[in-house]
Amino acid sequence: MNNIFSNTKEAFSLKTNFELLRAQFLFKIIQNRTLVKVSTFLTNFALKFYLPVTPIIKMTVFNHFCGGVSELDCNPVIKKMYEKKVSSVLDFSTEAFNSEVEFDNCYDKKISIIEFIKHRPEIPFAVFKPTCLGSVDLFKKKTKGEDLNYEENLLWIKVVERFEGVCQKAHDNDIKILIDAEEVFVQKAIDDLALLMMLKFNRKKSIIFNTVQMYRWDRLEYLNNLLKDKSNKDVIFGFKLVRGAYMEKERLIAKSLNIKSPICSSKKETDINFNSGLDFIFKNLERISLVCASHNEDSVIKVMDFIKKRNIKFSDDKIWFGQLYGMSDNITFNLANMGYNSFKILPFGPVRNLMPYLIRRAEENTSVEGQTGRELQLIINEKNRRAIEKS
Ligand SMILES: Cc1cc2nc3c(=O)[nH]c(=O)nc-3n(C[C@H](O)[C@H](O)[C@H](O)COP(=O)(O)OP(=O)(O)OC[C@H]3O[C@@H](n4cnc5c(N)ncnc54)[C@H](O)[C@@H]3O)c2cc1C
Repeated sequence: MNNIFSNTKEAFSLKTNFELLRAQFLFKIIQNRTLVKVSTFLTNFALKFYLPVTPIIKMTVFNHFCGGVSELDCNPVIKKMYEKKVSSVLDFSTEAFNSEVEFDNCYDKKISIIEFIKHRPEIPFAVFKPTCLGSVDLFKKKTKGEDLNYEENLLWIKVVERFEGVCQKAHDNDIKILIDAEEVFVQKAIDDLALLMMLKFNRKKSIIFNTVQMYRWDRLEYLNNLLKDKSNKDVIFGFKLVRGAYMEKERLIAKSLNIKSPICSSKKETDINFNSGLDFIFKNLERISLVCASHNEDSVIKVMDFIKKRNIKFSDDKIWFGQLYGMSDNITFNLANMGYNSFKILPFGPVRNLMPYLIRRAEENTSVEGQTGRELQLIINEKNRRAIEKS
């Protein structure tokens, strides 16, 4: 497709020839479902038995999709991207934490990251995954509306305190904060906490952004109810709109429980639902700020068209675009070049902790028709362009 996002010179201006070659190699592997399955199995096996595979992972998939092991490691990438007007959102890897000590450590880490990014316009958002601050089982029980026993109640109070502590810190430092969305079995508890935080911190502007997964067929109703509810009338909402990352898992869970899947029945339906979500937000923009978190060119173009039609300043803080580091550079860098607010989510942390994230990226790209093909084609176009330029 030849459009405003086909400018590969701009898209890959920060990638060396070696990095392009590595990206081509990675996306070729990712394209192959069997290879992804085999490499995932082998990597998990090697990590479990402490075989020395970390340097290989680091040199390949890790360096392509992640900023480094520490926040300081990320600084060179952050600086280079900001020279191209692309902002960064530092995302410390926090998957599979399950003890109170880990939740406390994670809380401390989130607070220290906000300290690290304050007064840095190149890092306009913080981000966290809710279940890094408390046990999945508690989130599940709250989502189901089950009563908690005395001990669980005390633990839940700690979860709320951690949640509020991170949001308060972001608010006090005037940093917007994205709350990630997770599986349906924990999401209602997350939504309730996110609303509580918005009621407290989003009075003057959107500081707290909850994530809305539009692959869920019930999300339009969720958005509608939030805005209709009179007790939310003073809230300026923040929503990060995504399609959703847990499709296959959600379908398996629904099947095993013999219940209706919470996910739209086809990609087309998800796309229609995502567009309806955008339309709803556009209609209510005086009460909502939007992060359009998508690698889908049509979705991004829809938001750009709206911005132009409404004569909104491209750099208006109310609308942001976000993509993941290592993917869809053609969208992020071309958007930034045209003056739109755009950022990359830049994951960082120990290689071992980032493996679930990396595996999700691989599986997602394998299961999403067209995405890997598009990435590969763009990389090849840029390699050809450089070859012609050189000759
Ligand atoms: C900045 C950023 C932040 C993100 N944060 C989160 C988050 O907090 N939580 C989260 O869950 N995800 C998150 N994601 C991932 C996101 O939900 C998508 O998985 C990913 O972006 C791919 O969707 P897309 O809109 O980019 O592109 P597309 O390639 O157009 O869409 C692919 C998506 O469509 C949906 N889909 C594909 N096939 C079908 C089908 N057969 N039936 C129904 N639906 C289908 C799936 O959601 C799939 O991921 C984030 C993504 C970005 C870029």
